[in-house]
Amino acid sequence: MKIISDDLYKAKIIGQIKSRDFGDREGLHFSDLNYCLRKAYFRKKYPDIGGNISEQTILKFSIGLTLEKWITGDYEQKEVEVDGILLTPDFVNPKDEDDLLEIKSTMLSSNKDIREQTAWIRQMQAYCRAYSVTTYRLAVIHLMGGWNPIWTCEKPIFKMWRFDFDKEEIDANWQDALDKKRILEDAFKESQPPEPIKEAWECKKLYCIWDTTGVCDPNSR
Ligand code: SF4
Repeated sequence: MKIISDDLYKAKIIGQIKSRDFGDREGLHFSDLNYCLRKAYFRKKYPDIGGNISEQTILKFSIGLTLEKWITGDYEQKEVEVDGILLTPDFVNPKDEDDLLEIKSTMLSSNKDIREQTAWIRQMQAYCRAYSVTTYRLAVIHLMGGWNPIWTCEKPIFKMWRFDFDKEEIDANWQDALDKKRILEDAFKESQPPEPIKEAWECKKLYCIWDTTGVCDPNSR
């Protein structure tokens, strides 16, 4: 018997996933506005660097996409546009547009307070605005469970949440997105990176590709 590590074939698979799921996206998506605004600016400005995604990132996203397809029964994601912003909920029940679901697979500990996941909450509030609903469901598969010792096997852990938002918070979240959209558009017009509107975790050393590649000085401006 002869066994070889078939790196060429592996590269072919990774390349296929990358071209299928990580191609350059046209238009302005809510996710561009949901994280550090500079990331969205640099992604469009330097697509070669932005497209240089690590194998680990590709595989992690692939696990998420696979779970999404499996849980939703392969429903096509439905993209909608509101005020020039594109939104793509993971699942819209084709028989009932009030039935909306977001699916996350994450390395995050299942012991974390779900209220701390502010980016997910902003995302669901934006989808609520797009579909004129106030309720949204969130399925979270914590791949590492609560990060208990490996031998306990209590992983993954699946949690299902239902969020009931106030109309006021949905509207305030949307206004915030519109403000960020304007800042980003001005940045493109002026060819100047926008203010780094972000959360602290995004900007940790070695965490953001734009920092590690030296494109962004997070302390500037
Ligand atoms: S390094 Fe910080 S400020 Fe710069 S793009 Fe990344 S998250 Fe934003």
